[in-house]
Amino acid sequence: MARKRLFLFDTTLRDGAQTNGVDFTLADKLAIAKMLDALGIDYVEGGYPGANPIDTELFSEHRKLATAFTAFGMTRRPGRSASNDPGLAALLEAKADAICFVAKAWDYHVRVALETTPEENLASIRDSVRAARSRGREVLLDCEHFFDGYKANAPFALACARAACEEGARWIVLCDTNGGTLPHEVERVIPGDRVGIHAHNDTEQAVANSLAAVRAGARQIQGTLNGLGERCGNANLVSIIPTLKLKPEFAERFEIALSDAQLKKLAHASHALDEMLNRAPNRHAPYVGESAFATKAGIHASAILKEPATYEHVAPDMVGNRRKLLISDQGGKSNVLAELERIGVAVERGDERIGTLLEEVKRREAAGYAYEAADASFELLARRILQKVPNYFDVEKFDVNVEQRHNALGQRVTVSLAVVKVRIDGESLISAAEGNGPVNALDLALRKDLGKYQGYISGLELIDYRVRILNTGTQAVTRVLIESKDETGERWTTVGVSPNIIDASFQALMDSIVFKLVRSGA
Ligand SMILES: [Zn+2]
Repeated sequence: MARKRLFLFDTTLRDGAQTNGVDFTLADKLAIAKMLDALGIDYVEGGYPGANPIDTELFSEHRKLATAFTAFGMTRRPGRSASNDPGLAALLEAKADAICFVAKAWDYHVRVALETTPEENLASIRDSVRAARSRGREVLLDCEHFFDGYKANAPFALACARAACEEGARWIVLCDTNGGTLPHEVERVIPGDRVGIHAHNDTEQAVANSLAAVRAGARQIQGTLNGLGERCGNANLVSIIPTLKLKPEFAERFEIALSDAQLKKLAHASHALDEMLNRAPNRHAPYVGESAFATKAGIHASAILKEPATYEHVAPDMVGNRRKLLISDQGGKSNVLAELERIGVAVERGDERIGTLLEEVKRREAAGYAYEAADASFELLARRILQKVPNYFDVEKFDVNVEQRHNALGQRVTVSLAVVKVRIDGESLISAAEGNGPVNALDLALRKDLGKYQGYISGLELIDYRVRILNTGTQAVTRVLIESKDETGERWTTVGVSPNIIDASFQALMDSIVFKLVRSGA
């Protein structure tokens, strides 16, 4: 039986841009559009031309993408003609392959929000779709609040959809605008190969609702990368895509444009978006998260090494992710061996130093270290025990000073000053730096002058700093996790533990610098 084609519509740049704290520049939008294009998404909705300068500029020229680059906007305003509506005119001028109109499909909204009649709403839909079709554009109609509207007045909601269909719209998209609909309700969606689903995640059902719609007949799925979107987000295409490609129930009945090779780029695309938004990727994200294929317990780990399918629902490399066996107090030798293989430290299976490393990891984890989260510190520890890590430099002493005083304007300010004395090849180097806090000052002073190694760490940047107070039984200690990044975009995490927060931070900072030197072949 021939498989039916499903179409993917990404609205990261339009609906996803509604997320709190997300502001895409034109360059961001172009970069994300190219990434989605390379991924094989059928439609990329770029924005709302006429609504803001960036979106207007985005659609001011043809962007030469393989995807159907789509402009979003409203149907003509009530009481105006299509030719006398500046908003519609701007939309029709946009250099877009497709136009996605949004229209009310709930009579209550038509009355209260638009303050117009159902007849005028239908006429606005007809006129707008006709105008866009006459300009040669493919047309989609987003039926806002469709599911609530359908419950309240089904004939009217359907009349809105039908009006657009009759004027030649390619897709009628049923929107669960406030995200409150549940999968069994969505499954009552009208079947038909011109229906799309646009689900929001307010009950965490956006992915389930999208799949339910497909089962019921919808052939287009709208969503965003990483589920970006206002409130609780939109349907997450990063979870939907592998489900469609890898789960037999969908894969046997449907096909999407993404090839297997493109699917392998999914984890990277997901992380690249987070990178652009300057936020840490969700470790527990299905399919693509760092922990999505992480196994902790030793007994599971040894089974996974023998036969991955025993504990994995799909193969991680299909989506560009990788298997991760956690080094932990529950883990055994197989975890350590697998992890060493991954980081490229060659060792014989029977090498007794593996036992030494495992004991050391267990001892340190009991003291509060967390190597599962700090892969770079684990790698350094392993290399120190199994190979040799050069002693690049010694920190002879450091001094961190926190002072609260009045500044020249009479305001109370707190300033931190760190002085670090480093010895490299018998020579002492002293650096001082001010920071907005003691750890920041220490970090800056430590990285200010490392003599001949300075060139290797110039691109090093501290991007995340997490502190936890732990009770290890005998005393309260502080665990510090530091995430760093270099000029290539590589990220790594290091850990430090001490009763003193500055000392714990110092250990993690030192590991980060030494890790970078080792990786750079200094
Ligand atoms: Zn939406």
